Amino acid sequence: MSDITMNVRELLSILPDGAELVVAAKGRTLPEVKETINAGVRIIGENYVQESLEMIKALGEDSKIVKWHFIGHLQKNKVKRVVSTHDMIETLDSLKLAEKIDRQCRLENRIMSVLIEVNSAEESQKQGVMPCDVLPLAKEVSKLAYVRLEGLMTMGPINQDPTPYFMKTRTVFKELQGLGLPNTKIMYLSMGMSDSYEKALNEGANLIRVGSKIFGLRHN
Ligand SMILES: *Cc1c(COP(=O)(O)O)cnc(C)c1O
Repeated sequence: MSDITMNVRELLSILPDGAELVVAAKGRTLPEVKETINAGVRIIGENYVQESLEMIKALGEDSKIVKWHFIGHLQKNKVKRVVSTHDMIETLDSLKLAEKIDRQCRLENRIMSVLIEVNSAEESQKQGVMPCDVLPLAKEVSKLAYVRLEGLMTMGPINQDPTPYFMKTRTVFKELQGLGLPNTKIMYLSMGMSDSYEKALNEGANLIRVGSKIFGLRHN
């Protein structure tokens, strides 16, 4: 059995009930991604629109076995291509972006699942919404008919223990659930990567996004 298959099986085996693995596939080859699917992965996360479209196309029928989550920063001019190919956008960070997604989904007569990306450590250079701005944004997003808010995502800081920031995000997640907003289904808390997924699971994450722990270091 190859390393990729072993790593995926190990991760799947430690996931608590209700938690799911998102494979962070940026910079990986078709055979590598295919192997994760064969090993049982059901969600692929992509950061770059072009790379994602190429991967989906190259996988052909196999691409339909999995859900496609967009986990990179989404520019407004790429919304159309992401909406037509992805099942969830984990990186919603503004009302303007939500409105753009809503308009495109209206045209395609489909509903897009989204998570709000939280800048949980309030880092100035980081993408995402400040924790205090999450609930106000969620209220506005809940008014959009073709966008369905399903939870929160956070990256956490790289050079510190992310645990306090995972806790913070979970607190906001609970508050968001408590609002009971119409047209939402607040159920996903996407936190944790290769070096932090165990901590994230301890803090209630039910989507973990893992790349290098599965594939090894990136080629590019
Ligand atoms: C790359 C990436 C990951 C996975 O990172 P690893 O450290 O390789 O596991 C998770 N989330 C996002 C948004 C990423 O860009």
